[in-house]
Amino acid sequence: MSKKSDIIKKLVKEIKLPHDLPSSDFKGTLLEAGMFAALLGHLTPNQSTSGVNGLRKAFEDYNETRVSQYQEIAEAIAPKGKGLTRLNKYLPGARSVKDFLQAVFQETHGLDLETMKEDPVAVGRAISSVPTLGAALASYLLFLAEEGQMPVLSGSVRVLDRLGVMTRTSSVRKAREALDKVIPAKERLEVAYALGVVVDNWCDSRKPTCWDCALLSQCTFGQKVEKDYVVQQERLAKQREKEEVRAALVAEKEEVRLAKEAERESRLRASTLKKITKEREKAAKVAAKKAEIEKKRKDAERKKSAEKKKLADRKVTDRKKAEAAKKKEIATKKKDVADKKKADAAAKRKVNAAKKKAAAGPASPASPSTKKAAPKKVTKKKPAAKKAAKKVTKKKGASKPAKKAPVKKAPKKVAKKAKAKKVAKKSAKAVPRRK
Ligand code: SF4
Repeated sequence: MSKKSDIIKKLVKEIKLPHDLPSSDFKGTLLEAGMFAALLGHLTPNQSTSGVNGLRKAFEDYNETRVSQYQEIAEAIAPKGKGLTRLNKYLPGARSVKDFLQAVFQETHGLDLETMKEDPVAVGRAISSVPTLGAALASYLLFLAEEGQMPVLSGSVRVLDRLGVMTRTSSVRKAREALDKVIPAKERLEVAYALGVVVDNWCDSRKPTCWDCALLSQCTFGQKVEKDYVVQQERLAKQREKEEVRAALVAEKEEVRLAKEAERESRLRASTLKKITKEREKAAKVAAKKAEIEKKRKDAERKKSAEKKKLADRKVTDRKKAEAAKKKEIATKKKDVADKKKADAAAKRKVNAAKKKAAAGPASPASPSTKKAAPKKVTKKKPAAKKAAKKVTKKKGASKPAKKAPVKKAPKKVAKKAKAKKVAKKSAKAVPRRK
């Protein structure tokens, strides 16, 4: 047994399929074989075969299945019965069938996989590139389409090349010739399906995850990749460690900075608070001073106003007193004037009486004392008295003593007249002030 055959045997042994291997003699179209393989992920081979038969009967075509609800598909897959709970078991399978049909439709723009028989490589490549379908399913369909030939996919060739079973080639024919030498005909489907599982799970063309692959122990390429991966991980770990140290330093610095900032802010707050307190105290002092000044001003105003009022009251009192005195003076003057008038009237009455006496009989020679006394009384009181006195003197002109009297007493009469005029003027001035 060659080394390559050993590797193939180990491959089949090491790789655990996600479900039972699909039947190599499936009776139906390639599309139905795909649905069968999709159902195998959730059901037994017999249940999967019954499910495909149910779908075939339930739907007019598979496009109708594609656009149907999961529950409707599950109803078709599940055995006949009552109750919706029985469908729960078949819902995941229904989802896989619907997803498979949708992926085929999007990739091939139809639901006819029979074209694989005409161009198996192109259609197989298209199907294997779809993650929901994958290389394992594509290998199975290719196996059925090519009627038992070894399925050759680029992914499978890549795995075998990395395992050292064959040299990588783009020629399907060359690849198949090389594989046929190491893989027995009856194991073709199993090996192809296992290779498809390796491709789908680990052996990516650019970033294979060899450290998780079940074939790492027998894959030289994979061991190298794994070594590089370990080195890379160590480097990354060191880098992460450095990053963590750096991040810790940055965090420490940031912490110190924040603490300083907090302290500075605290100091600033305290300073601002102190300043505000000081300003408030100053404002309070200014306000108190202002209030004191205002109080003093108001007190002064009140005092001034009281003094003013007192002065005004005093003035009013003085004025009233002055007015009362004036009134008293005027009343005295009036009384004087009235007395004068009375005296004048009395003098007049005396003159008239003298006239009447003279008119009543021959006048007896007047005694010198009478002649002299009459004129004196008249001239003292009023101008009218003077006239009366003149008349009396004229009528008494015969007697000598009467003639002498006017010459001697003329200056006295003028003085008395002037005095009377002054009194009259004063009384005239005093009257208008009695308002
Ligand atoms: S070990 Fe790596 S390279 Fe080898 S088969 Fe697995 S995934 Fe592919």
